[in-house]
Amino acid sequence: MSTSAHPIDLDFDRSHLWHPYTSVKNPLPVYPVCCAYDVFLELEDGRKLIDGMSSWWAAIHGYNHPVLNEAMVAQIRRMSHVMFGGLTHEPAVTLAKQLVALTPQSLQKVFFSDSGSVAVEVAIKMAIQFWAASGKPSKKRLLTVRSGYHGDTFAAMSVCDPITGMHSLFKGSIQEQFFAEAPSCLFHEPCTEEDLADIHSMLEKHHMEIAAVIIEPIVQGAGGMRFYAPHYLVRLRELCDCYDVLLIFDEIATGFGRTGRMFALDHAGIVPDIMCVGKALTGGYMTLAATLATNKVADIICSGNPGLFMHGPTFMANPLACAVASANISLLGSYDWQASVVRLEAGLRKGLTPCRDLSNVADVRVLGAIGVVELHSPVDMAVVQKQFVDKGVWVRPFSRLVYLMPPFIMRGEELEILTAAVYDVVKDAQ
Ligand SMILES: *Cc1c(COP(=O)(O)O)cnc(C)c1O
Repeated sequence: MSTSAHPIDLDFDRSHLWHPYTSVKNPLPVYPVCCAYDVFLELEDGRKLIDGMSSWWAAIHGYNHPVLNEAMVAQIRRMSHVMFGGLTHEPAVTLAKQLVALTPQSLQKVFFSDSGSVAVEVAIKMAIQFWAASGKPSKKRLLTVRSGYHGDTFAAMSVCDPITGMHSLFKGSIQEQFFAEAPSCLFHEPCTEEDLADIHSMLEKHHMEIAAVIIEPIVQGAGGMRFYAPHYLVRLRELCDCYDVLLIFDEIATGFGRTGRMFALDHAGIVPDIMCVGKALTGGYMTLAATLATNKVADIICSGNPGLFMHGPTFMANPLACAVASANISLLGSYDWQASVVRLEAGLRKGLTPCRDLSNVADVRVLGAIGVVELHSPVDMAVVQKQFVDKGVWVRPFSRLVYLMPPFIMRGEELEILTAAVYDVVKDAQ
């Protein structure tokens, strides 16, 4: 499988292509990948890398999975896409049924969109329309916590961490939101009123302007890979109810088993008013996201002016994406994925804990199929990326964080190679 028909033109890539968060003037090297299967990415030169990233949380069942491939091929033969205005189709209805069944009972309405950021935009618009329709149009701002990440479009960006999200650069173009301290109670710690004091006082002071609190439940992902206590969410739900503010959970990174529960909210047993899913929804095959809402939220939005929810992407509920998402969710239901995540959690803990003894390591933490080694200072990306590739693994750190979130299908011996590579690379960086 290693020889592709057309060699990848790296010079053209270097002079014309923008990669995520990169300079085009002084680009870091990119590695040409020609195919991917199981837990492997195969480079053009034939090297096989064990994938530690699941392509940013998405490829929970690995690559080139026969069941997911077949779902796509079967759907391509019927139709790849039709508009969703005035039409509907089986893949959208089947997937919506699965999402409604899988998520908490009160989340009954499903809005499909094309990416996580758009699902967050949709959630924010729902919250604002909800209060406008409730006769409280002053409630249009968001409250969130620092160290969050919710996507790269403008409204999503406005609720990302103001420092890592470079809000100063976009001042004037970006809505100013309210920021409380990030949750300080660690996952296994109790959460005290002290931990909630800042967000509580913000709600108390500004609730007349706040439409919703938006937060990543349990795991703050791209904003710092921090894990916090489920009880924080229980108290946050109570505070939102008390101050008449909606609660939005962004489960785009955590959804579909990553933290050991189907959704991170299952650790806390509480239900938001609006919830976003994406990333692993299609098993990493297609770009698709969804925003779920309660009947109450939907009914109030649709009883206000103009009586409609104001959003409708061209590729809404794309049938190919819905078909593969549906197959991915069925696949998840067809085996004991919890046991797989428990096994990965144990392997990550065993393999990464020795990093604690290295002088450049500030913290090692593991939750579900997420393993994080936090360093004291940022890594030299170009150097460590090459070291990982030379060791036969694909790991892409950011800043001070070297982290793993392998596909659920990864076997023990591959995970050992992956964690050993992390240990060796971090040790060399001392
Ligand atoms: C990745 C991510 C997003 C944005 O999703 P995109 O598909 O990249 O637009 C939003 N929220 C969270 C928590 C994410 O991890």
